[in-house]
Amino acid sequence: MPAQHPAEVLRALLDASPSGIIAFDESGRIRLWSRGAQRIFGWSEEEVLSKFGPVELQLQTLQQAGEEVRLRRKSGELVQTEVRLAPWQNSDGSTRGVLAILDDISARHAMEQQVHELIRQEQDARTEMQSERRFRELLDAAPDAIIEVDQEGRIVLLNRVTEKLFGYRREELLGHPVEVLIPEALRPAHVHHRSHYWSHPQTRTMGSGLALEGRRRDGTRFPVEISLSPVNSEEGFRVTAIIRDITDRKHAEDRIRAIQEKYTRALSATNRELEARNQEVERANRLKSEFLASMSHELRTPLHTIIGFSELLSEELEGPLNDKQKRFVEHIHKDSLHLLELINDVLDLSKIEAGRLELRREVFDAGMAIEEVLASIRGRGEGKVLFFETEIAVTGAILADRLRFKQVLLNLLSNAVKFTPEGGRIGVHARMRDGFFEITVSDTGIGIPKDEHETVFDKFYQVGNTTKGVREGTGLGLAITRKLVEEHGGRIWVESEPGRGSRFTFTIPVDTKTEQAGH
Ligand code: ADP
Repeated sequence: MPAQHPAEVLRALLDASPSGIIAFDESGRIRLWSRGAQRIFGWSEEEVLSKFGPVELQLQTLQQAGEEVRLRRKSGELVQTEVRLAPWQNSDGSTRGVLAILDDISARHAMEQQVHELIRQEQDARTEMQSERRFRELLDAAPDAIIEVDQEGRIVLLNRVTEKLFGYRREELLGHPVEVLIPEALRPAHVHHRSHYWSHPQTRTMGSGLALEGRRRDGTRFPVEISLSPVNSEEGFRVTAIIRDITDRKHAEDRIRAIQEKYTRALSATNRELEARNQEVERANRLKSEFLASMSHELRTPLHTIIGFSELLSEELEGPLNDKQKRFVEHIHKDSLHLLELINDVLDLSKIEAGRLELRREVFDAGMAIEEVLASIRGRGEGKVLFFETEIAVTGAILADRLRFKQVLLNLLSNAVKFTPEGGRIGVHARMRDGFFEITVSDTGIGIPKDEHETVFDKFYQVGNTTKGVREGTGLGLAITRKLVEEHGGRIWVESEPGRGSRFTFTIPVDTKTEQAGH
């Protein structure tokens, strides 16, 4: 066997390689085109040798492309290649050009793609499974029955609560018309409503305002509340229904209603009773006032007789009386006067309370009216030494019921005299303030504890201990006084402390017309 030239061996080796090996000279012309290159690209060595080669395979193109590049075969097909470039050197190290080694990696590439695709699909399937499982879990965790119904009204999805609530197993419901869950009598209407829903598919409560009922497998019925929402899935339009069992709520509502009704009945009975009693009280009150008014009148007539004759007796015009007789007559006279006062007060108060008091307002000189009252009270000192201090800083006229105005002042002054011991001082101060006449009656008497400042104005009220035996009053004076002041549009109050005297102050509004009249 003849020895082979080393160049031939080299060439055989190059051609045996599955890679395409191409050598470019420095100008870019192809100097070597291995069998491998021919196999990959389809061009023969003769076709490319000493040329720049087909466009895709020119040196410049290869130098610019990356490691993995798609190139075109002679037939026009594309082939995925891996390109490696290396300098082609002479034995002395000088550059001859560039060597390009190209491998057809189409098969490997395709395989890789396929593997990637498989991995992706597997991942997708897994996430889908997970979300499917999550969805089921959510569905089953819901407190309400949830079903999905297709356009033909068949149940295509249901959760565990649905099985429990209606007493069916999943298989018994899936694919069956939703009407099995509805009482028989309502089924035809439901079919009709269902088809109607598709013309207005929107989320809403079903049959709002109606009492809806579900039907269990055993035929029993129970109240439900249903909310509907349309879903547009890959399998077409469907409707999801969320069904809530409201048996407990209904029971609670019924119980509340029953209790409410019971209370309303009881309440209106009580109200009627109260109203009747009120009317009775009003009637009794009116009768009392009428009785008092007439009785007082009836009592006053004989009393005047007693007073008159006791006065006549004490004047001794019909003959002298001995000392004992004189004392007796004085007692009769004094107590009759007291009785008359009491009767007058009762009459006054009952009139006021019956709303029959009429003020006769007139314009008069306030200062003068005060002086008149003072003059009469001074005479009533009953032997007690009292000092009066007056300061009347009101000029002009007042519009009020003159008699009643004097009665108020007289009541306050009588009390001051009554509850102030020998040697005490009594003051009357009148002034104008903020559109009101303000009149204060003060004394240095026994005083009133703070917690009685309101109650002294109640009728028949007398301060227990402080009166110290001075109890000849009626306990009506201040009640009447307050009513009279308030009737005039004014106010009355007391400032006092036990042992330090009292200050009673009342106000009467000034009418602007009054001021003009007075000037
Ligand atoms: P009375 O007819 O008893 O005076 P009033 O209604 O006028 O009735 O007074 C009620 C009570 O208020 C009196 O009994 C007395 O206890 C107390 N009171 C009234 N004015 C004075 C005063 N100036 N000083 C002390 N206590 C008074």
